[in-house]
Amino acid sequence: MSETLCELVDVSKWFTLKERIKGKSLLKAVDGVSLKIKDGETIGLVGESGCGKTTLGRSLVRLYEPTRGKFYFSENGQKIDLFSLKNSDFEKFRPKIQMIFQDPYSSLNPRMTVLDIITEGLKNQKVPARERKNLASEMIQVVGLKREYLTRYPHEFSGGQRQRIGIARALVLKPKFLICDEPVSALDVSVQAQIINLLVELKQSFGLTYLLISHDLAVVKYISDKIAVMYLGNIVEVAKTDDLFDNPLHPYTKGLLDSIPIANPRLRKLSKGILLQGELTSPIDPPNACLFAPRCPYKMKRCTQEKPKLKQVSAEHKVACFLY
Ligand code: SF4
Repeated sequence: MSETLCELVDVSKWFTLKERIKGKSLLKAVDGVSLKIKDGETIGLVGESGCGKTTLGRSLVRLYEPTRGKFYFSENGQKIDLFSLKNSDFEKFRPKIQMIFQDPYSSLNPRMTVLDIITEGLKNQKVPARERKNLASEMIQVVGLKREYLTRYPHEFSGGQRQRIGIARALVLKPKFLICDEPVSALDVSVQAQIINLLVELKQSFGLTYLLISHDLAVVKYISDKIAVMYLGNIVEVAKTDDLFDNPLHPYTKGLLDSIPIANPRLRKLSKGILLQGELTSPIDPPNACLFAPRCPYKMKRCTQEKPKLKQVSAEHKVACFLY
């Protein structure tokens, strides 16, 4: 059985708004996320746009300073809380935790050559120039591009090729944990499968662990061992992929799964899911209650008075709902 590589405990990222909205000013984009990720595992993080998935990913690589919580990373038998490290100490761990960004058009500096883009992190780690070039030549081929492309600029490439460059930039640092933030959502459908298959191959070859952020349930189902469902900054359900699809428990998860289009009209009629409708709770100073309550057909009085905690309902299935 694999060891836990990453453990998130009560991770939160709150933003203070410059201007108060209806007297309120604290936007809780991520609020108390706890999650364990095993070495070699792929966890899919799903939820509607704006639910805090990307903010969580960016907080883990400290592109945003987390408001509170702990992020334990295991290395050589030691558990280190990366959030407690000073910036200079965190830099030593940065190569181990890398991120692939959603938009391959804006995530590559147009003024830098592909060589400079791929080796920027190595330069920060003081790797000598000759070694940087050798590693970049090797890595660009690993992601399916030609070595000659190293002297070119991002605008000379298609979206799929740019995403491969972004993947090479992350992998050249030999990370253990890779956060993939909507890695294919900005790409043509025809190249999405190529990039997903590349990520699957790279995971095997390099022994990687993934946090895959996506709103595309088909992509997440294909690649993930486990899925965490996020709603307004909170994890509301976590389960093994098959278990989540076969036996979703949280009403929001049921609604999300039911939003997957079914081509067969007969099966579509048989679908007994939940239609996601109703107004979203504001993440600005949210109430101490179930945030899904305004949209939930099973809402009870208790749901508006108390916030449900994530509870273990079977060996690897947790849900935050008073129905369980
Ligand atoms: Fe619905 Fe209540 Fe469960 Fe929230 S806690 S999902 S409102 S039943």
